[in-house]
Amino acid sequence: MSLLITGGAGYIGSHTLKYFTEKGKEVVVVDNLETGHKEFVRDAIFYNLDIRNKIELDKLFKKHDIEGVIHFAANSIVGESMIDPYKYYHNNVYGMLCLLDVMKHNNVKKIVFSSTAAVYGEPREIPISEDNPTLPTNPYGETKLAMERMMHWFDVAYGIKYVSLRYFNAAGAIEDSSIGELHIPETHLIPLILQVPLGQKDRVYVFGDDYPTKDGTCIRDYVHVMDLASAHYLAYNYLLEGNESQVFNLGNEIGYTVFEVINTAKKVTGCKIPVEVIGRRSGDPAALIASSKKIKDTLNWELKYSSLEKIIKDAWEFQKNYINKWKERN
Ligand code: UDP
Repeated sequence: MSLLITGGAGYIGSHTLKYFTEKGKEVVVVDNLETGHKEFVRDAIFYNLDIRNKIELDKLFKKHDIEGVIHFAANSIVGESMIDPYKYYHNNVYGMLCLLDVMKHNNVKKIVFSSTAAVYGEPREIPISEDNPTLPTNPYGETKLAMERMMHWFDVAYGIKYVSLRYFNAAGAIEDSSIGELHIPETHLIPLILQVPLGQKDRVYVFGDDYPTKDGTCIRDYVHVMDLASAHYLAYNYLLEGNESQVFNLGNEIGYTVFEVINTAKKVTGCKIPVEVIGRRSGDPAALIASSKKIKDTLNWELKYSSLEKIIKDAWEFQKNYINKWKERN
């Protein structure tokens, strides 16, 4: 029997795929390559397919005897979701409806879901635990929350068990630098910072230095992508063992300001990184720091790469490696 990973050509999906295949798991990947990278999919059967194509998805479930699903395929840019909510509801919410329907028809009853800290909106307290109110401040977070609620009701009615993993700020790359974070256009802080030492940009724009934090810039909880991957592995096995549905936060439980991240990147790269402070980005909460106690206690999740320096170093090695390969090809 095979595991289906939707969105396995994306950033967190491809790292999770690698984690599972290294453990010897047979994996089928479905990705429409809207934002994913085909070359990030290795050691798996690959389908260039949109999950909203229920007819083809159903055929694939039958052909490969799918036992469970890890679901990443979704749009995930906050700013884009503010200007194009239709796209987010259609791809994320309707996509989930199609996937769950095909799962139901094929009697597949296990799903691990890629959720986000954006479901919380402005947190009531820090660190944020899973019982913090969920009041998203943008369509991206809203659609992820709707997808979680959909899984809940599909569990109640059809017994489809789920684990929803609410990530804080995914960062870093696998240590062999073969895959990494590559969004077009790039909107995330660490890869944007690294574009300066790579010579692609002359400065980093910092979105606001007037927040109520120690240096005025936003605080985020950066978690290594391979630590996220290991959590998916634990969550999937938890479901295979026949356990109940769960929602877990996934974060490092340490917060860094934007300036601290930039200073660490200077140290790691040995390069100057000029900064320009501009206005706040709308919808940015001042601080987001996870409590990951629940997943640590329930699944014995252990962080292997919790230092920010290590996270940025792995991101940096990937970026250099990717640029070199790209230069060789062109
Ligand atoms: N940020 C910034 N400049 C940028 C990109 C991001 O100052 O060019 C800040 C952003 O305001 C946030 C943090 O860096 O406080 C992390 O942003 P990112 O978009 O990476 O992740 P998010 O927290 O939005 O999921």
